Amino acid sequence: MSQEAPSIVVVGSVNRDLVTILERMPAGGETVHARDFLQSHGGKGANQAVAAARLGAKVALVAKVGGDVFGADALANFRAAGIDTSHVGELPDKPTGTATILVEPDGENRIMIVAGANGALTPADVEAAADTIAKARLVLLQLEVPMETVAAALAVSARVGTPVCLNPAPAPDSLDAGLIGPALRFVVPNRGELALLTGLPTESEADLAAAARALLARGVGAVVVTLGAEGALLVEGEGEPRRFPAARVRALDTTGAGDAFIGAFAARFVHDGDVEAAIRNGAAFAGLSVTRQGAQASYPAMALSDLGD
Ligand code: ADP
Repeated sequence: MSQEAPSIVVVGSVNRDLVTILERMPAGGETVHARDFLQSHGGKGANQAVAAARLGAKVALVAKVGGDVFGADALANFRAAGIDTSHVGELPDKPTGTATILVEPDGENRIMIVAGANGALTPADVEAAADTIAKARLVLLQLEVPMETVAAALAVSARVGTPVCLNPAPAPDSLDAGLIGPALRFVVPNRGELALLTGLPTESEADLAAAARALLARGVGAVVVTLGAEGALLVEGEGEPRRFPAARVRALDTTGAGDAFIGAFAARFVHDGDVEAAIRNGAAFAGLSVTRQGAQASYPAMALSDLGD
């Protein structure tokens, strides 16, 4: 592994996804035989870190895993991806975060998340990574760790002068309004997250632009709204919003598409600071990921230059 300082620091979650494919949902007190069971590496923080690393970015993760087999397995997965794990703590008395996902034959999902060790990622853990954050060119945040830890990551990044990209997911029902401000170089929500974040409608193109501008008015540098198969919208400064098409592909599984987009966006942004190229690279990489099953399993290892641009 090279000794250069990580250019991206992800402060976020690590989960084990446990997927049971059902013939039908059991009733209370009933036992059924299910069709299949799959496990995969997940958690938005971990997914975004792995996506950026697959594109050759040097990434450090600030996270917590449990002292169980899922935690050990997650650490091995990060090391195999070349991610710096010196700020990933192991908590012997906590379980690794899990997402238990029940899938019915019609494709409907029921998801139960247990934060486990993710819930014990503290402001002190972020403070301990301040030197690494100071040397980085971008910090990636999501909302699967405690809000005070997200706030600490913002405060430390502002203090050391490293720009931050916040992906406000899962959709925030009670995001501290004080977190949305000039410390955020980028906010990258999907349509639903933007609506929740602002309390504004996000149906039409004009709605999207107005909601994004409400975030800019609070000091955010730029808003990139991801719009699934419709691509993405960049709103910054006084100019017109700019639309970026999605890749024209046949989607097989969109799990982790948003994380693929952000990982690739970050990898390109730290490479040369070109925001529009970063969005094009994000859409290209997310487009590849939706043609394959799974989240991290759908992120190909490739050179940034092979994404085009
Ligand atoms: P999230 O998964 O966070 O809800 P989106 O659904 O907006 O986020 O997807 C993120 C990005 O993934 C989109 O901006 C787009 O580039 C890509 N993407 C998602 N779905 C498709 C699709 N069906 N075809 C092509 N690209 C897609």
